[in-house]
Formats: sequence, structure tokens, C-alpha cells
Amino acid sequence: MTMVNATANGGMGGVTRITTDIDFERDGKQVSYLRLPFSVHRSAYGHIAIPIAVIKNGKGPTLLAMSGNHGDEYEGQIANTTLIRSLDPRDVSGRVIVLPAANFPAAMAGMRTSPIDDGNLNRTFPGDRDGTPTWMISHYIESVLVPLSDVVLDLHSGGSSLLYIPSALVAVSPDAGRTRKLLELLEAFGAPIGYVNTGGGDRTSTGAAERAGKLRLGTELGGAGMSGVESTRIAETGLRRVMEHMGIVPKTEATTRRPKTRVMDVGGDDYYVFAPEAGLFEPAVDLGATVKKGQLAGVVQFVDNPMREPVPAHFGHDGMVLCKRVPGRVERGDCLFHLATDRA
Ligand SMILES: [Zn+2]
Repeated sequence: MTMVNATANGGMGGVTRITTDIDFERDGKQVSYLRLPFSVHRSAYGHIAIPIAVIKNGKGPTLLAMSGNHGDEYEGQIANTTLIRSLDPRDVSGRVIVLPAANFPAAMAGMRTSPIDDGNLNRTFPGDRDGTPTWMISHYIESVLVPLSDVVLDLHSGGSSLLYIPSALVAVSPDAGRTRKLLELLEAFGAPIGYVNTGGGDRTSTGAAERAGKLRLGTELGGAGMSGVESTRIAETGLRRVMEHMGIVPKTEATTRRPKTRVMDVGGDDYYVFAPEAGLFEPAVDLGATVKKGQLAGVVQFVDNPMREPVPAHFGHDGMVLCKRVPGRVERGDCLFHLATDRA
């Protein structure tokens, strides 16, 4: 019996059904669309048009600059949209592929997941050529775009339910040489915090990059379903610094004046605090607080039954509060906080 490796072609079922008039090998600036075939009642032969740009000049490394992986995370979408308009191919040595609204239906709806198929793009890799739109998009990214790239920069923010101290992140690798390159990228971005995750998850863009042996840098730039002034500036300057670090564009002041990144670790489950019950969360600490294991993180109150004692939630590890839940109402299992610790 022959075992079929589902990821041999970057995902289930082989060659993508998404087409484009973009020529990834042509010099210059091309701004066009990916055509995702989508036959529905109002449009029998129509497609979902997902914006994409390629800015290329001669030989050199390739950066894949992605955003809108989650549609309610805006700083990266702004930075990449601005980049498409502003980057002159004459200033480029190599290639930048820009996918500003990766899960386009989700980005247009301002939602984490796609309103078409409820797909969370960053939980669908390696995707499926015959899946619904979100799975077709992750299949295209994994099977076409990642193999063309040296570095995948996937710009996220906290989304509607989380708020972060602006951060960049990488996943640790057992390969020391690869880890060193990832840490260099992390510091090149120049976010106030740079953290190392113990695991990226094989259904994410981190998994896609690791399967292809490519470097992947992520971010968590703010959140709360809004776009911030400072967090957008960090996205734009970080994107520029990554291109400079790769040698795609000349070094400028943005790189030489790069602020020092506090490099931290985000470990396993004990770095996270989850709601113990459904109710209204009353936090005991704010973003940036330094906390101890066992310290009170907050309580769940029961406004529908005011005499009931609130139920506490505690931190399971020492650390700094990097991320906080945004909505006050919680269900059991919602993430309330997560911590980071200074990297040894
Ligand atoms: Zn995200």
C-alpha cells in the first residue's frame, strides 16, 4: 500500500485552483488579484478577488508580507496597504510579495473568521485545494507563496477579544542555527517586546513556514478590534526594518535608530489564565503588571445572582502580563491573560 503524504504538494489534493495574472518572476511592481473560484446564487461564474502585489527587482531574497490572516487585526493591513503604494521597485534588490488581506472575506467583514465558511485561516494550514474559501487560501499560501519566499512576515494583532503590548514573535526550533536567525529577525523588527513561543502549531502560518524550511516572524501589535497610532507605526517601521535586515532595501535611519527589544519567553499552559466560570470578569491587574505564581488575576462576578460569591482566577506562573482579554463577559475557558518571562 502506498502512503500518500497530504503535505507533499503543500496541502490536501495537489495543485491550487486559485489563479492570478501576476508573474512572480517579472521585475517591476504588479498589483492585481488572486482569483478564488466561487460560484454562488448571485454570481455563477464569479470569483473572490484577493488583492496581491509583487514588487521585484533583479536577484535577491524574497519576503512574503502577509496581514489580514485574521480580519479584525488592522495594523498589518494598514502597513501592507501603504507598502504596496509606496515601495518603488527601483529601491528593491530581490522581491516583496504582499498579501494585505489574506483571508479577504474576513478582512472585509472586520472579523477574525470568514463569514463565508467560519474558517479561521490560521488554523487551516496546510489547507485544501477543494475546501471552502478559507481552506483554499491557506492551501495557496502554503503551496505557492511560502515556497517562493525566504521569510514569511505574518502581521497579527490581538483581534477583537485580546489586547497585547505590541510584540513580535517567533517559534523555537531544535536547530540552533535556525533559532539564531529567527532571533535576529525578531530583534530586527524592533517591537518593544519580542517573544519566543514554545510551539507555533502546525495548522498556522508558522507550521507552513516550518514545513518548507522558511523563517517565519509573527507579530501581536495591539488589538481590541481597533487600529492604534503607536501600534501602526511599529508595524510600518518593523516591516521596513525586516526588509532592510534581509538586504531587500537599503538601510535607513529606521534601522540604525532601532529601539532595543525586550526578548521574552511565552511558555506552556501555566503562562495562561482562563475563565473558571461564565460571568462578568473583574480583572485584578492590568497589561504590563509583574505578577507572581498564585497571585489573584481577577474574579468572575455573577450580576444575575448578586449574592453568589465571585469565583477567583489565579496566575500559574511568575511573569509580566503581556496580553489581556478585552470583553468583560466571559465563558468558561476564555483566555483572560497570558504572561511572558525574560529570556534567560
Ligand atoms: Zn491573528
